[in-house]
Amino acid sequence: MIEEMQGPGFLVEVPPGHVRKEKEKARALRKTQWWQRRIAKGRCHYCGASVPPRDLTMDHVVPLVRGGRTTKGNVVPCCKECNNKKKYYLPIEWEEYLKTLQAGLNKGE
Ligand SMILES: [Zn+2]
Repeated sequence: MIEEMQGPGFLVEVPPGHVRKEKEKARALRKTQWWQRRIAKGRCHYCGASVPPRDLTMDHVVPLVRGGRTTKGNVVPCCKECNNKKKYYLPIEWEEYLKTLQAGLNKGE
């Protein structure tokens, strides 16, 4: 299932074929032991929610459409809720959302 970053706005110039190439890499990376171990923990990288591994998606921290790449340092397990928010929020709104989560986690909620 390919669903990264088809939201509106904030497109930047990336080399032709960049997104397609990186999505192919993501597909391969999803099959690796490394990724399977990451989602086996069943936890969303952003909100910390417990999520069944099959419901975790691979999210690019720096979106492909903004020049991000499929590397182990740039992909995280992400729940559907965060994934949707990230897709439809503007980058600035997403930052705010992360701060809200951070504040919540610090309070032990
Ligand atoms: Zn989440």
